[in-house]
Amino acid sequence: MTSRVELLLEAARYLGETLEPSRVYDRFHELLADSVHHDGVVVSDYDSDQRSITCEYAWVEGNYIDPATLPVVSFNPEGGMQSKVIATGEPLLANDVVERVKGGGTFYDVDREGTVRKVPDTGPPGTQAAMMIPVKHEGRVVGVVQLMSDSDPYTDEHLELAEALVALMGAAVRNARLHKAAEAETEARARAEAVAAEREQAANVLEAVGEGIFLVDAAGVVRLWNRAAVQLTGRTADHACNRPIAEVLPGWETIAGGIPVGDGGVPDPVTLPLEVDGVELWLSFVAVRSAEGIVYAVRNLTSERALEEAKSEFVATVSHELRTPMAGIYGAAQTLLRQDIQLDPGDRRTLLEIIATQAVRLSQITEEVLIASRLDRDELPIARERVDVGPVAAETVEHMRSGVLDASMVGLDIEPDLPPASADNDRLQQVLMNLLDNAVKYSPNGGRVLVTVSAPAGHVRIAVKDSGVGIPSAEHQRIFAKFYRLDTELTRAGGGTGLGLYITRELVRRMGGTITVESEPGRGSTFTVDLPRA
Ligand code: ADP
Repeated sequence: MTSRVELLLEAARYLGETLEPSRVYDRFHELLADSVHHDGVVVSDYDSDQRSITCEYAWVEGNYIDPATLPVVSFNPEGGMQSKVIATGEPLLANDVVERVKGGGTFYDVDREGTVRKVPDTGPPGTQAAMMIPVKHEGRVVGVVQLMSDSDPYTDEHLELAEALVALMGAAVRNARLHKAAEAETEARARAEAVAAEREQAANVLEAVGEGIFLVDAAGVVRLWNRAAVQLTGRTADHACNRPIAEVLPGWETIAGGIPVGDGGVPDPVTLPLEVDGVELWLSFVAVRSAEGIVYAVRNLTSERALEEAKSEFVATVSHELRTPMAGIYGAAQTLLRQDIQLDPGDRRTLLEIIATQAVRLSQITEEVLIASRLDRDELPIARERVDVGPVAAETVEHMRSGVLDASMVGLDIEPDLPPASADNDRLQQVLMNLLDNAVKYSPNGGRVLVTVSAPAGHVRIAVKDSGVGIPSAEHQRIFAKFYRLDTELTRAGGGTGLGLYITRELVRRMGGTITVESEPGRGSTFTVDLPRA
């Protein structure tokens, strides 16, 4: 008795030590080998839902048999011995197997190669004695263990011991399976967490990209709207998501057909105009089909397009601008060269003057274009030196008077004891020349132009005030843009590249100063340059 208790205690310890179900079976078999003689052991699971019996472990006459190769047997209450054990929950001991299988029902025998055959149709079974023991969990049968002997019969004692070992084995297998399930769950959770983290990262990236990204599903409803899309359209994600795109962006339907949708590859972007809240935007679209719908990536090219337009306009303007003085020069030279007419000295002088003035104009235009491009490429060195602005202004006005300006038209008012400014002497002259040039150009009816130099707190200020056509307030910012010219009769008639104020503002900025304009249409304009003090 003691030895049996010891055996079972040892068995419990030994079986409980492993958490691998297949190893529990191996150990169970080892324990059996020492205590119950047998030529075959088969452990099966019973699934009460499916009413199926599936082999989990099989060993026959010294050979392990892969349980996966054995057929799943259906539970049959009237049939085999396994089914009887399952039905009653009672173990079965038979020392007359050969006789039993002759009765009704279907019986199977497995040989050492794992071949399953029906008995007795295919001859008598090799097995003489067998024990079938139910594996139970909370009173329910969850499996059957079969022990088979080809020679010696089994006794009740054998059965008792085998039952005890089977109970221990069943508990150990259940424990090992629970452990496996817990492990699988932990793994699944880790995988789900990794997927969630990946999704979150993708979502963060989507929010961070500069391109507007949105997803429109098959029904035309917005499913995703990233931050750049919000910025681009002024529509919040809350407003856009779950709403038809045609409602979110009225006008969408008219452009959607023009956007090629990639199926696998990424198509070339297309640029299309879309009016958003009364403003025309030029948007570049790339669209790709995905499982969830069409993903659109959008960039706002409105300002690039405006610049493109301005550039091509500029080319037209510059060539037109160049043509006028060149035509003048050419015409005057042709006349001077004529042999058939006699020109008096006065005419000759007038023609030579035309050539001189137009040549100056030509070089002015090329100079402007050159400076603008050097500014763009940041290749124009600008000094920050001590400059006495008063004398510079006086000198420039004098210079202009001797050339193009009517002396009586330009007044100069310089505050006494001015502090020096920090500026670039030559570039400052250029700024002043541009402003004076415009003041005269945009005062078609004459009128006074006044240049004042003063020193308000912290600055040295030059103001150029005219009483010309003036500038509508909506244009006050734009006139400083590159190539920008007001579309008026005066600008159409008179020459200009639209570069003068752009260059002026860039030069002032690079000297560390600011330029502003105050103007009213019909009442003249005042351009004010504030330079930092030296
Ligand atoms: P441009 O004189 O070559 O056209 P600018 O850059 O110097 O180019 O000026 C841009 C536009 O600003 C001009 O076309 C003109 O319409 C307007 N403008 C500039 N200065 C004056 C001014 N003093 N009075 C009225 N309009 C001006």
